[in-house]
Amino acid sequence: MTAALRQQLIETAQAMNASGLNQGSSGNLSVRCDEGMLITPSGMNYAGLIDDDVVWMDYSGNCRGSRKPSSEWRFHAAIYTHRADAQAILHAHPVNCAALACLGKGIPAFHYMVAIAGGKDIRCADYATFGTAELSDHVIAALEGRKACLMAHHGLTCFAEDLPEALVLAIEIEQLAAVYSRILSMGEAKIIGDAEMAKVLTKFSSYGVQD
Ligand SMILES: [Zn+2]
Repeated sequence: MTAALRQQLIETAQAMNASGLNQGSSGNLSVRCDEGMLITPSGMNYAGLIDDDVVWMDYSGNCRGSRKPSSEWRFHAAIYTHRADAQAILHAHPVNCAALACLGKGIPAFHYMVAIAGGKDIRCADYATFGTAELSDHVIAALEGRKACLMAHHGLTCFAEDLPEALVLAIEIEQLAAVYSRILSMGEAKIIGDAEMAKVLTKFSSYGVQD
């Protein structure tokens, strides 16, 4: 189980870079495992990662393994602690999400697909220094009722029920961020009303569920 999860974590990290969501080793990924999580190591190129490079740690920061965990492990631990629905977490600095976040903007309901993150909008978490408990608090607040948030002057964090789904969600949100950025360069976005978004959210609760 653990070996398979380590391999899936490495493959998803590599896919995250191949998809253009992430450059270099700035992003990080984790998955729940044995009362803790497996997380990508700090500052290593994903291309050459092997199983032993993946770090297991508990939510207090106690590690097993030969590598140091991602410097941003703290908000991963906070999400697993606060959100029972989070099984895998992806964090990256994708260009369009990061650009909006550097303006302090979240993503409003300019398009119905915004509901994919679980709510009528995708919030932008307040800024705090990376790796701090203060940043974790901001991320937890921005994720309330959502599976994703932008992070001011930073990037994107999202979670899902497994690693492949977290990657799919991140790609969808970066696409939304790209379209929203385009709209902002042309004018003002027209926002879908709360009542319609409530309808969309109801439909999304069964979206992708095959009989
Ligand atoms: Zn980051």
